[in-house]
Amino acid sequence: MKAYLALGSNLANPLHQVQSALDALATLPQTTLLATSPFYRTPPYGPPDQPDYLNAAVLLETDLAPEALLDQTQRIELEQGRVRKDERWGPRTLDLDIMLFGDLTLNTPRLTVPHYDMHNRAFMLVPLLAIAPTLTMPDGTPLKNLVAALDTRAIKCW
Ligand code: ATP
Ligand code: MG
Ligand code: MG
Repeated sequence: MKAYLALGSNLANPLHQVQSALDALATLPQTTLLATSPFYRTPPYGPPDQPDYLNAAVLLETDLAPEALLDQTQRIELEQGRVRKDERWGPRTLDLDIMLFGDLTLNTPRLTVPHYDMHNRAFMLVPLLAIAPTLTMPDGTPLKNLVAALDTRAIKCW
């Protein structure tokens, strides 16, 4: 199955964090890292009193089940010092979100796919479009239409 992940970091040397995460993703079991987007600099989505983010997207080919992939991405987050705080969308060393898992639509206590808010987030969709210019969402909407509806002016090159 093809899975698209969103990477984000705004603490403890984001470039190093994302490069380490890419190394970890490239060595996942039953998984091949097929594509990596350019790195983008984006303003914080939540509380504004935090550093800008480095955001990127990757394409994996994986035989892992969706929740097994989430186990792996959460392990990588923890290994890279992710601390879950009460504040929503606060600063973090690494966030690895599963945006899409094939054409699957999934709603379990641990996992919602497609990511529940990706259609509102230029910092997720712009990197995704860079590696998947002709992608259609599971509901049939072309990704490029979603991006066209967003304000992308604040998304810069890292
Ligand atoms: P947001 O989900 O709004 O981007 P966040 O990424 O900061 O916020 P996290 O603290 O990383 O949120 O994750 C909270 C929970 O979201 C996780 O414990 C995980 O079980 C759940 N979750 C649900 N769907 C997904 C998904 N598609 N990818 C990653 N985590 C998910
Ligand atoms: Mg997130
Ligand atoms: Mg997350």
